[in-house]
Amino acid sequence: MTKTYHNYVDGEWVGSTTGETFETTNPAAPDEVVAEYPAAGDEDAERAIRAANEAASAWAATPGPERGAILRRAAGILDDRSEELTERLTAEEGKTHAEAGGEVQRAVDIFYYFAEQARDLAGERKAASGPDTNLYTREEPVGVAALITPWNYPIAIPAWKLAPALAAGTTAVLKPASLAPGPAVELFEALDEAGLPDGVANVVTASGSTGSYMVAHEDVDAVSFTGSTAVGTQVYETAVDRGARAQCEMGGKNPTVVAADADPAAAAEIVAAGGFGVTGQACTACSRAIVHEDVHDEFVSELVAAAEPIEIGPGDEYDMGPQVSETELEGTLDYVDVAADDGATLATGGGRPAGDRFGDGYFVEPTVFTDVDRDDRIAQEEVFGPVVAVIEVGDFEEAVAVANDSDYGLSASVVTDDHTTANRFIDEVEAGVAKVNEKTTGLELHVPFGGVKDSSTETWREQGRRGLDFYTLTKTVYDN
Ligand code: NAP
Repeated sequence: MTKTYHNYVDGEWVGSTTGETFETTNPAAPDEVVAEYPAAGDEDAERAIRAANEAASAWAATPGPERGAILRRAAGILDDRSEELTERLTAEEGKTHAEAGGEVQRAVDIFYYFAEQARDLAGERKAASGPDTNLYTREEPVGVAALITPWNYPIAIPAWKLAPALAAGTTAVLKPASLAPGPAVELFEALDEAGLPDGVANVVTASGSTGSYMVAHEDVDAVSFTGSTAVGTQVYETAVDRGARAQCEMGGKNPTVVAADADPAAAAEIVAAGGFGVTGQACTACSRAIVHEDVHDEFVSELVAAAEPIEIGPGDEYDMGPQVSETELEGTLDYVDVAADDGATLATGGGRPAGDRFGDGYFVEPTVFTDVDRDDRIAQEEVFGPVVAVIEVGDFEEAVAVANDSDYGLSASVVTDDHTTANRFIDEVEAGVAKVNEKTTGLELHVPFGGVKDSSTETWREQGRRGLDFYTLTKTVYDN
């Protein structure tokens, strides 16, 4: 099962200039090595950036339909390999087989989607003041993009940056997260086989410090980062200070408001799906349930009843996989202590599950805290594990105030059958995504995605047609 990966630089599969390698292991069985990678350093990033620069003008001049055709072929190759990719993703990052399969399918669909967008990437014809003037806009590539991605969607997020960059005629260097780089490298295997010209897209499996080297590099025109707010804030400042374009999508502390009229069982199902799906390791995971006092007690019973039967375990037979690493697991368990110290009540979970199948895997139980105060750390800080904090409120105004009482603003949902309540929530909630009677997680690939406040740098959105904007410059043409 162990696979040896290489970096892809200027169309060649290469090791690193450091001569060193690193391994990834299976979070469900940490003794099992999943893959080995070149430990790339700044010199490798330098070569990749140089290759991307040298390839930029020819790729910009390649007609959109031709760029799209390469993406379409790569999508087909990924599709053909989807089962193998799913298994590798599960082994390296820990998602269940069903979740990993969904993510791989998303990457395939993203490639197909942007293959079509490359055909349609035209500007706009505008009315001119004189009869002899042809007035229009053109969408031109931004140049060279550095793409830096997290481990929690190790193929979908690299795909949702890489595909629009390539469709737009921008060249790219990707640095995936060190915990699970394999699925991202597989995208380059598909692109290579699909006939991508040398240097157009490059991948280096390097540490965060080489990521910062890329961000600071003067030959990088645009930096697209997804990851934690702490790192994203630094990335943004460095890139923007030197005049580059930057887009940072970061953390979340996503609320679901349960209104007085909500059905407690339906609300619990929505919160459990948003809070415990992908082991709570989603930027849009529901980590706060803000519940009207009229339905609070029944909602809590239903949420506990939804959490307790969740079957935890490795691979394809279970509902919830492990956390990605020991550090992430310890982080979640630390928050369990912090919440208890702050006076919250543990309603269910809170520990590692016991049993032979768990071995040394980084498994943790789905966890619910009640009696949480809006200012408690468990109500304010991103846990990034399957932990839901329930906060009781007296009315809808208070619910929205609590929902907005956060540094983050990524996704938010409300459970209600009342149209006015739903519309007020949509109007008043401070979030990039607002949902009614839906879990906070999950967004289709053709709609724009991004947050507000510390969740996002806000200027740009990813995914959908708007996802291309970051990788293009608009030129206005007067042709008389
Ligand atoms: P992270 O620690 O911030 O790392 C993200 C990426 O940045 C990794 O590739 C990392 O490399 C790299 N990096 C680390 N330090 C760097 C630096 N100084 N300069 C440049 N790059 C650097 O985040 P993570 O733990 O991988 O991911 C979890 C976080 O991502 C959560 O906060 C989650 O909410 C957020 N997230 C947000 C979205 C969204 O769309 N808003 C989506 C998914 C995840 P190494 O891996 O080598 O350290």
